Amino acid sequence: MIVILRQDPDKAQLDSLITWLKGKGMDVHESRGTSQLVLGLVGDTTQIDIDLISALDIVEDVKRVQEPYKKANRKFHPEDTVIPVGDTQVGGGNLTIIAGPCSVESREQLLTIARLVKEAGATMLRGGAFKPRTSPYSFQGLGPEGLDILREAREETGLPIVTEIMDAADLPYFEDIDVLQVGARNMQNFDLLKAIGQTGQPVLLKRGMSATYQELLMSAEYIMSEGNEKVILCERGIRTFESYTRNTFDVSAVPVLRKLSHLPIVVDPSHAGGKRELVAPLALAGVAAGADGLEIEVHHDPARALSDGPQALLPDAFAKLVKQMNAMHDLVEEL
Ligand code: PEP
Ligand code: MN
Repeated sequence: MIVILRQDPDKAQLDSLITWLKGKGMDVHESRGTSQLVLGLVGDTTQIDIDLISALDIVEDVKRVQEPYKKANRKFHPEDTVIPVGDTQVGGGNLTIIAGPCSVESREQLLTIARLVKEAGATMLRGGAFKPRTSPYSFQGLGPEGLDILREAREETGLPIVTEIMDAADLPYFEDIDVLQVGARNMQNFDLLKAIGQTGQPVLLKRGMSATYQELLMSAEYIMSEGNEKVILCERGIRTFESYTRNTFDVSAVPVLRKLSHLPIVVDPSHAGGKRELVAPLALAGVAAGADGLEIEVHHDPARALSDGPQALLPDAFAKLVKQMNAMHDLVEEL
């Protein structure tokens, strides 16, 4: 971190700043130009509050030369992280295919879809029991009963289950859930992230709809700094000026996050495109860009789905896409 001081800084204030920085474990290197003094800080600057220093009268500007996330940063952990989930692994050259309905609607609905996606080659089952809906009048999910239905589907198919948690107070219901999903709307619910960080459970952390890569990685850092390093990053489309698609699929997220972080990366083409016919091309683009996995919504009767029917793939289309995604993944691995 570099601190640029105003001209002729007050000596007492400068000394007190330097003493404070040293007290925080920093090595402080002073470089004096013809008219300006610059302090170079060496050490773990993740603990330094940049706004606190910027607000001082004697300070003109503060610049970070290193990213503020440490545990999620590839610089401090060069190898890719591989996260075991049930009998499968996320990352490490595997293509994780998480599929299922947007919401768990009934036992019959979930078991039907779970059997079909398993048969088609999915490696995990998704389904929301606690749903973040834009309208309070829309279907809110079955809650704990939905989790029991997911457990039953796991028991029958052997597929690990991925489901969204919205409130830290609900954590006791989720103790045996294989992957906790943090939705886009909760990416910066810091209390939820901290609470999840205290569990050892794998987390699928979805990018907020207006979040930068750094903000996504700082949210991963919240979970990891509490001791839970099993974080899977998910690109699910961001909000832009385009309104034809539900969101804009940011395929750049895959190579950029791969460069910045060692955590596995999954893409969600369903919430990105918001339209059934866009799911396959976006999914294949994500795999071509190097994603470790995908999360895809599938429904056997999308016209009657209680949420996100327009973006749900029919089981046959999903089965065809699984073959294409695996072929694309093999090609990328060979190149
Ligand atoms: C979901 O996966 O059903 C969901 C609500 O996703 P997101 O948080 O990305 O909107
Ligand atoms: Mn959905």
